[in-house]
Parts: sequence; C-alpha cells; structure tokens
Amino acid sequence: MVNVCIASNNKNKIKQFREIFAEQKLEANLITASETGMKDFPPEDAGTFYGNSLIKASALHRHICSTSGACDFYVLADDSGVCVDALGGAPGVRSARFSGEHATDAMNNALLLEKLAGVENRTAYYMCAVTLITPEGRVMCTGGRVDGEIIDEPRGSDGFGYDPYFYIASLGRTFAELTSDVRNSMSHRGSALRKAVSLIVEDINAKKS
Ligand code: IMP
Repeated sequence: MVNVCIASNNKNKIKQFREIFAEQKLEANLITASETGMKDFPPEDAGTFYGNSLIKASALHRHICSTSGACDFYVLADDSGVCVDALGGAPGVRSARFSGEHATDAMNNALLLEKLAGVENRTAYYMCAVTLITPEGRVMCTGGRVDGEIIDEPRGSDGFGYDPYFYIASLGRTFAELTSDVRNSMSHRGSALRKAVSLIVEDINAKKS
C-alpha cells in the first residue's frame, strides 16, 4: 500500500484522482491536504500550469515534513484550465477565477460566452500539469491536454467547470455528456495523472531493486 496525498480540496478533482488510481490498480492510501491539517496554500502566481502545480505540491510536501518530522507520502498536485485560441489562451491559468476571486462556474461560463460572442473560431483545449514529489523530495512533472471547442448552449449535467460547453466533435458530445470512465480515459487530467501514477510505480520498483 502506497501513501499518496493530494494537494487539493476540490471535490471534483479528488473524485477523478480516486477513479484513476482505482483504474490503474495501484493500491493507495489516498488522503487530501485538509486531512493533513493543511488549510491554506500559497498564492498560485507562477503564471504557468506547471509552475502553479509545483507551488501547491512543494507547499504540501513541506507541510507534511514539518508536521510529521519526515514525509512518508507521495505528494501530487495538479493545475489545470481551459485555453481558448481566439482569446490568446485565456482563461488559462485563471480559469477558476476568470470572472473574479469568488467566481462560480456559472459566472465563468457566462463571461467566456460573452467574450466569444460573434467569434467564429471556437477551438480550445483543456490543459493539466501534475507535479509529483516523492517522499524523499524528488520532483517530477507530467502533463495532459485534450482538444475541443466551445459551444454556445450547455449540454449535459455531469462534470464541472466548463464541461457543459466543452464539445468534442469526434464524439458529438460535451465533456458533461460523457460517463466518468470515458472522460477519464481521454481527459487532460486523466492522461497527466496516469503518467504520474506510472512514475510512482517506477520509483517504488527502483527502491525495491
Ligand atoms: P485549479 O487547477 O484548481 O486552479 O482550477 C482549474 C479550473 O479550470 C477549474 O476550477 C475549472 O474552472 C477549470 N477546469 C480544469 N479542469 C477542468 C475539467 O476537467 N472540467 C471542467 N473545468 C475544468
């Protein structure tokens, strides 16, 4: 059994992390940052998905080391967002706070559609960067991306964030219309996390040999 701590308190993300660990058949004791007593993360001001995921993972690794004397957890942090080509990659790293500090998904989606009113090119992609820190403090990063387009009318009720407007033409569905299995198999977070899980397995095997 491997100990893994996720540097997030976002319920939707944590659910996806759990599903992907289960699918990869890595038996893990998966806990979240709040279960270690960590409430606040430093500002995510790196300006890139990778930089922000590193800020979150490092802060949690430091917190566990300082409260337990040593870190016996693999720490995982993701940073993600939607990048719209016609908006020069916005909202990007500002996806969660696109319409302000206390933005809701509905407010962010409304602002996105407002900015895209009359715009023909709707191509966009979801991007996810994951930072993994081993118990000894070795830092590794993985990434994942999925391409789609932004539509004007919401479709589907599963998923979160921008999912009802993020349309995959090859499937004829938005992300909110997919089952979680299909979504995880193709999503930005799914691919970044699967790579991170493989790195954990490699690290464990290297220590055994
Ligand atoms: P953060 O990674 O916690 O800074 O926030 C990422 C934000 O990007 C979320 O709050 C959503 O608005 C958006 N986002 C990232 N990944 C997804 C996804 O898989 N579905 C829908 N929205 C997402």
